[in-house]
Amino acid sequence: MPLVSMRQLLDEAAKGGYGVGAFNVNDMEQIQAIMAAAKETKSPVIVQASRGARQFAEDLYLFKLIQAAAELNPEIPIAMHQDHGNSFETCKSAILLGYTSVMMDGSLKSDGKTPSTFEENVEVTKKVVDFAHERGVTVEGEIGVLGGVEDGHGAGGSGLEHITDPDQAVEFAERTGVDALAIAIGTSHGAYKFSKKPDGSVLKMDVLIAIHKRLPNTHLVMHGSSSVPKDLQDIINKYGGKLKETWGVPVEEIQLGIRNGVRKVNVDTDNRLAITGAIRKVFAETPEKFDPRDYLKPAREAMAKVVALRMTQFGQAGHAGDYAPIDIKEIAKGYADGTLSTHPLVAAK
Ligand SMILES: [Zn+2]
Repeated sequence: MPLVSMRQLLDEAAKGGYGVGAFNVNDMEQIQAIMAAAKETKSPVIVQASRGARQFAEDLYLFKLIQAAAELNPEIPIAMHQDHGNSFETCKSAILLGYTSVMMDGSLKSDGKTPSTFEENVEVTKKVVDFAHERGVTVEGEIGVLGGVEDGHGAGGSGLEHITDPDQAVEFAERTGVDALAIAIGTSHGAYKFSKKPDGSVLKMDVLIAIHKRLPNTHLVMHGSSSVPKDLQDIINKYGGKLKETWGVPVEEIQLGIRNGVRKVNVDTDNRLAITGAIRKVFAETPEKFDPRDYLKPAREAMAKVVALRMTQFGQAGHAGDYAPIDIKEIAKGYADGTLSTHPLVAAK
């Protein structure tokens, strides 16, 4: 199966009432772990690469690996997504390479750190939408500013400083025509999200619900949505790691989001924890080993296990065979002739 448009994947998720995990990749083993999980659970999937990942793996290596994943798993719809594009140029380069989706994170200036103005965000996002849609590529925008820093990208902070304003979300969706909208409801990137167990007041789920009420057909995106499970933290610390106690986003909160318009759920930290724990275990228990396969194989298996669990929890499991992929050129025609709407449905307050 060729790579599919993320718009198609999310439209189908909306029809089916489920969320789709978007998992970050930097290397072959992570891609293989995701595909093993997708195959096992029969899940459509979003694979995403940050700017840091594209640099680390070199663009072409990473993209050819994704193409291999698509070729080897013809029954699985896969969208390839640029995570947190910081500029028009970054998104353009991903699109020209063959990515089927890009995120233009115009909530920050192109330094990837300084919050931008609303008008700056609208302007750069609209420019990306025009370029992307002509080529059938999906665009995710961001309104409000997420917390934390990941891969050198982010404004820092707890994620509660720049919560999305629902009125601004409506105006942003109307003026840019984005296919998916990342909102800030108190989540942040990285492992250290919350210093106490989130009790339902830490995440602004009321804001998410308010935005979904105003924009009932807009696909919402939750970033920084690793759950940072204690058992994965414990494995790392048991075998010589030094993670401080921390809490992530509870799966039940994500599921509440999915019932309220969230269609894409970004997960990276949980997979990083699984990989590192598995490698530390091999190093600690069998220090005589030196063949990288001896620790990369368990690392890959540990990541596949977490990904498969999330796929089941988000509801995408079992949906891989629901639809046939639409050629990206047909998607481009759909944007041009209006069959694929880029004008959000806006409900009254
Ligand atoms: Zn993010």
